[in-house]
Amino acid sequence: MYNWDLEEFKKKREYLISLRKSKRKKTSDEKLMIIDDSIATYDFLLGKYNSEDYSEVEEDLSDRIFTSKYFINMYRSINPDIITVVNNACNTFERNNFIDTDYSNETLEIKSVIDMCKDIFSSFNDPELMKKVNSILDEDNHLLDISNSSEIINFKTIYSGFSVKDNYNKIGYAKIYSNNKIRDLYTLVHEIFHLVIEDNNRITSYSDDSFYTEEVEGAFSDLIVTDYLYKNKIFMDDARSIEIMNFNNTKDFVRNIFISHNYHNYFKDDKFDLRRIKSDLKSKGLRFTGFSNLDMRDSMVSFNRDLCYSFSYLVALDLFFKYKNGYKNIISDIEGISMGKYPFIMLERYGITFYKDGYSNLDTYQKILKKEKR
Ligand SMILES: [Zn+2]
Repeated sequence: MYNWDLEEFKKKREYLISLRKSKRKKTSDEKLMIIDDSIATYDFLLGKYNSEDYSEVEEDLSDRIFTSKYFINMYRSINPDIITVVNNACNTFERNNFIDTDYSNETLEIKSVIDMCKDIFSSFNDPELMKKVNSILDEDNHLLDISNSSEIINFKTIYSGFSVKDNYNKIGYAKIYSNNKIRDLYTLVHEIFHLVIEDNNRITSYSDDSFYTEEVEGAFSDLIVTDYLYKNKIFMDDARSIEIMNFNNTKDFVRNIFISHNYHNYFKDDKFDLRRIKSDLKSKGLRFTGFSNLDMRDSMVSFNRDLCYSFSYLVALDLFFKYKNGYKNIISDIEGISMGKYPFIMLERYGITFYKDGYSNLDTYQKILKKEKR
């Protein structure tokens, strides 16, 4: 049985709270922030337990919207070559016949999922990595919680789970909502990948400039799982469907970014004028995948998430092809990105050039982001 130790969570939480009180004067702000963040982690985990609601952690929306506004303004400067880049990436796949998707109904025991997961991670031939993976998969450590939730079957969601970290104690926890389908393997490898990457000081904030590449290890894990399924000739329809979905989402999103040079005109009194965006795109015969509804706040959340997933996917794709060509240091590369290399530097490798000359506000933007962190 994979479950968390709730008593242990309570103990850890209480200890952190006492630490917070006793060290108020001599502890650095940064340390205090980590302690607070870790307390919030246990609050979240204890509150989450027994809940079938698997939505993500409550987020500071104002922070996100503020950041997005600045970020979106920069799209004016995206080099049109991105279309070529995406199309090239599309051609790189041997299986680029992206027509329809098909998911199997074949059920899968969680034990087989665990075995496949170990198989996948062992293929990196990295003893340190394997040690971490085994520790997460050791039931006695209670780092993993797997509950069956067969009613949450939504094929539009590849994975159903989350991971969080206690950055003070440097412990990560993951939750997997299993439906005994191949999706469980995607979720498990995805969340474990998040946990094994050394980003213990990363505090999720949408004003953090590493946000836009935050899902690199997650996107990379999807590519690795798909590759594994193809290699073993199992669940190939599912693998192909997931590959298609990931790729098409990225492609659509990136195309939309390119087309909508005028996003900066779509702000009205600091609010995003979605109706105008949608009708403008419609007049061009285009669909805007970034926004799923007309509620500004929700839309910004999904827009941000799409940004993060699309950019992360592009970076992961590059890493994946490098890895397939025999490149050995892939894990430390992913760690480097995850630890917060400026995402634009990464993205420039794909021809997504942010014309810094033409974008005079770049410095201001970066300064605002720095300030926002506090
Ligand atoms: Zn993820």
